[in-house]
Amino acid sequence: MNIVIFGPPGAGKGTQSEFIVKKYNLFQLSTGDLLRQEIKNKSEIGLKIGSIVNAGSLVSDDIVSKLIDHFVSKDLYRNKIIFDGYPRNISQAENLNIVLNKYNQKIDVVLKLTVSQNIIKKRISGRSVCSMCGKIYNEFFNPAPLNAECCASKFLQKRGDDTIDIAIKRFDTYENETKPILNFYRKMNLLKEVNGESKIDQIYDEISEIIDSIEGWL
Ligand SMILES: [Zn+2]
Repeated sequence: MNIVIFGPPGAGKGTQSEFIVKKYNLFQLSTGDLLRQEIKNKSEIGLKIGSIVNAGSLVSDDIVSKLIDHFVSKDLYRNKIIFDGYPRNISQAENLNIVLNKYNQKIDVVLKLTVSQNIIKKRISGRSVCSMCGKIYNEFFNPAPLNAECCASKFLQKRGDDTIDIAIKRFDTYENETKPILNFYRKMNLLKEVNGESKIDQIYDEISEIIDSIEGWL
């Protein structure tokens, strides 16, 4: 079982990935971690990556692809990978197919956590922290109790509008950038969209059901 997971910032992708990794004994492949590890190991490719990163440049698809090939080739990870944050473009998606194919593997399912921009906006703009006790509230989903002595509205601190704007921009960028890749996987009949607006355990149940229903998975 190899999985690719997508979800915009604020959709809870990290939490869900963690659950899936534990439940199905998978290994999470994050390209950031792979790059950092090579740099740390001071391997030949690691030294190259280090100088690219230090120069403030982006590591090429070619180098990332080599690292992924190396990871996928290991028996330990065979058919036990959850790709998170990769692929980021169509050419990476095509490359991933080639690499997996080379080792007689494939992607079994692509999960997309779907959340509307409006919900993300409410999650961020509605959030407030009590400056007295540190409790976190959300005026839309989890409002502070009325008439409370401690968490009265005068103690509740909200985030600035600029923080909200940045978060919305990141959300939009993510959605726009991943649209072509999701279409790519939709055409391959691999895409399953999961309602990311449900409660955390409901999302988890939905994902588990999808994974359990995949043929050949024991
Ligand atoms: Zn309080």
